[in-house]
Amino acid sequence: MVRDPRYDILFEPLKIGPVTTPNRFYQVPHCNGMGRVYPDSMIAMRGMKAAGGWGIVCTEQCDFHHSADITPFTETRLWDDADIGYLAGMVDAVHEHGSLAGIELVHNGHDVGNLYSREVPIGPSHRPVEANNYPGQARAMSKQDIRNYRRWHRDAALRSKKAGFDLVVVYHGHDGTVPTHFLSKRQNQRTDEYGGSLENRLRLYRELLEETKDAVGDTMGVIARFAVDEMMGSEGLEWESEGREALEMLAELPDMWDVNVSNWANDSMTSRFAPEGYQEEYVRFVKQVTSKPVSTVGRYTSPDAMVSVIRHGIVDLIGAARPSIADPFLPRKIEEGRPEDIRECIGCNICVAWDLLSAPIRCTQNPTMSEEWRKGWHPEQIAEKASESHILVVGSGPAGLEAAHQLGKRGYQVTLAEALGELGGRVTRESRLPGLAVWARVRDYRLGQIQTMANVETFLESEMTAEHVLEFGADHLCLATGAIWRHDGVGRANRSPIQGMSRNTVLSPDDIMDGKRPAMGPVVIFDDDHYYFGSVIAELLSAAGYAVTIVTPESVVADWTRYTLEQCHIEERMKQAGIAILTRRNVVRVSAGEVVVLNALTDQEEVLSGSIVAITMRLPNDHLYNDLMALGDTAQKAGIKSVRRIGDCYGPSLIASATYEGHRYARELDTEVDIDAVPFKREHHKLELA
Ligand code: ADP
Ligand code: SF4
Repeated sequence: MVRDPRYDILFEPLKIGPVTTPNRFYQVPHCNGMGRVYPDSMIAMRGMKAAGGWGIVCTEQCDFHHSADITPFTETRLWDDADIGYLAGMVDAVHEHGSLAGIELVHNGHDVGNLYSREVPIGPSHRPVEANNYPGQARAMSKQDIRNYRRWHRDAALRSKKAGFDLVVVYHGHDGTVPTHFLSKRQNQRTDEYGGSLENRLRLYRELLEETKDAVGDTMGVIARFAVDEMMGSEGLEWESEGREALEMLAELPDMWDVNVSNWANDSMTSRFAPEGYQEEYVRFVKQVTSKPVSTVGRYTSPDAMVSVIRHGIVDLIGAARPSIADPFLPRKIEEGRPEDIRECIGCNICVAWDLLSAPIRCTQNPTMSEEWRKGWHPEQIAEKASESHILVVGSGPAGLEAAHQLGKRGYQVTLAEALGELGGRVTRESRLPGLAVWARVRDYRLGQIQTMANVETFLESEMTAEHVLEFGADHLCLATGAIWRHDGVGRANRSPIQGMSRNTVLSPDDIMDGKRPAMGPVVIFDDDHYYFGSVIAELLSAAGYAVTIVTPESVVADWTRYTLEQCHIEERMKQAGIAILTRRNVVRVSAGEVVVLNALTDQEEVLSGSIVAITMRLPNDHLYNDLMALGDTAQKAGIKSVRRIGDCYGPSLIASATYEGHRYARELDTEVDIDAVPFKREHHKLELA
């Protein structure tokens, strides 16, 4: 297939200082939970992005000096020459495919507690360390400290050159680095030439840009990554005033501008809180003040939107982190005239969560993310079938759909049976909840692929029983029948049923998605799940006129969403909707029209009037599996070679786990799996003492 000429502009080369990117696809620096701790995995992941056509592939944040170490996070480091080796390995993996390799040099200043290096943190002024409310302080940098700091940055740029990088990103973003701390009026109380006026507060960043150009600018492009707005009104930087003025002052200094908003929770907003292209309004002025190439991010997955943002003169390059994680081959698919094959990011931030948990990133849409090296999984390639088997997949949620898709790709004969009249399981149902519409892409991508496969057939309204399955006569059975929310209150906070809670007195998320509603009046949402359901159902009911109160045993609403960068946005949205939040409370009893909660801080019971929706935990919907097992060797006698459960029916979890399990099932079929062996390669450190 050939590329649609409408998209030609995305494939025009562009000069960035002394180097030229082959196209306009710029994988911005993004953390990945691998970095220096899992370097082989990180290198393979970056190489895959280059193979997929990203013209520029950058590192994650790379700490350039031990006076700011981001432990416990796993990002890359370039503290001295000993760190060059694995970064050079990444450069080679990127160069192999003709792409440019970029490195983002970072010093987090007073944001980090230096848990590993034990150096006293530094910043423009004396300030408490920000990370995790660490009870230590950063000291104000002296003039000598500033001179040292500039030298460290310059040395790191020279080391980047040694490692073979083509581009160096001088980082001024996310409210998390020394130059941003200097620029910030909130954080810089200096009275010397580095404090006070905008020019003074910007001085350090100007010096870093100038010195980087001077040190490596003959062969490397210098990118200024700059947040133009902190989205906190006059408390912070605003693009209409100092954000713009700062850009004007430095306009022609770097070779390229990579502009965004700050902090990370605003830059990487989920689809629940911001649509594709949401940063355009903040950065559209930038090209008016500089002649240098400009890029921004905005979760762009549509080539039409990409072309539009370039044609409208807002940017020259399409920056992307998450879309490149969900589909490393996004550029190639556009180039090869098959944009419908793009696996579009759903903006859920599970990738971010894993990074913040210091684990290799996972992706809801791309189950091969971070498995490129350790499992040898390629996002677009899978081994051909090893037998003529026919596989019956029962259940068409994310697990069943992904299994059917990948089995189909391998060439197997696949039948997908779904009890309901529509495909997609939980993603179809959940995507109808407020703010989650984009999640339907999990279904749509897979359906789009399956529909082109003659060897995959789909049956709706086909609830399978053990009898049906035996009659059907498949060689392998893949059960992806999902899970069901409990009604009895058992979950994290309560190990036995809560008094008065039952199917008759409590609504579960399944009931709400089935269209059931509490009696009109006040509603208590008991959120013992701590992810998105509590606040999403609260929004739904509040919009329908209910007076909603969320009760949670945790200290904040939707506690786990701190990892998806949503907790602050959820709190704000609840406030705006007038939804009350009661923290540190557990439900102890439910009776007609009353919910009794125990306040953990006072040990007092409090009585709330209204009905209750309880979000606690799910149980696998594994009746079919149990019925089959109860038949002993009947299935085997009927010619069924294997029966396996995947996804929520095996262990209820995230949608990302379901797509992973579906993918794994398809990869492992007809292969020898040693269940006693570790199912992936591991990275072993060389011991000095060995
Ligand atoms: P997962 O997240 O593991 O993919 P889901 O809950 O999203 O699970 O999807 C499970 C799907 O399985 C649902 O659409 C449900 O209707 C379907 N299902 C459950 N039991 C059967 C059955 N016996 N026969 C056919 N489909 C079933
Ligand atoms: Fe997008 Fe979610 Fe994948 Fe992250 S985990 S890249 S947000 S689909």
